[in-house]
Amino acid sequence: MKEPTSMDECVYFTRRVLGTGKAAAWVYRKECPKCKKCLMGKPKDPKTGRYKIRATEYVCYECGYTEEKKEHMESLDINITYTCPKCSFEGEKQMPFIRKKVMRTNEETGKRQSVEAVKIECENCGEVILITKKLK
Ligand SMILES: [Zn+2]
Ligand SMILES: [Zn+2]
Repeated sequence: MKEPTSMDECVYFTRRVLGTGKAAAWVYRKECPKCKKCLMGKPKDPKTGRYKIRATEYVCYECGYTEEKKEHMESLDINITYTCPKCSFEGEKQMPFIRKKVMRTNEETGKRQSVEAVKIECENCGEVILITKKLK
């Protein structure tokens, strides 16, 4: 699996350090399912031509087809490459981009907390690897 060459190709890209391991995850933009002429993205401001970063929907710039963010994201696949923090195995995984609520220990506070994350397991040792949603 090759990492994308340009952020323009992606609706999501992240790199994480996982203890002694690491992971990179990305989601490619989706071709409009209706007209198939254009890659969908955040709506643009007609005056400035800039993306509306806070928009909660994704649009096709050709035909105007719109999908809600959650529906849009969950119809896409996330690509993950990882180096397992437990066994150093290097693996990769492609799966639907669906975040689930999982419990984990906050490394700073030591407290258990619920976070939204894409959860995968190391193919070699079964270690759970979480790509958590970034807290803002
Ligand atoms: Zn379209
Ligand atoms: Zn492992």
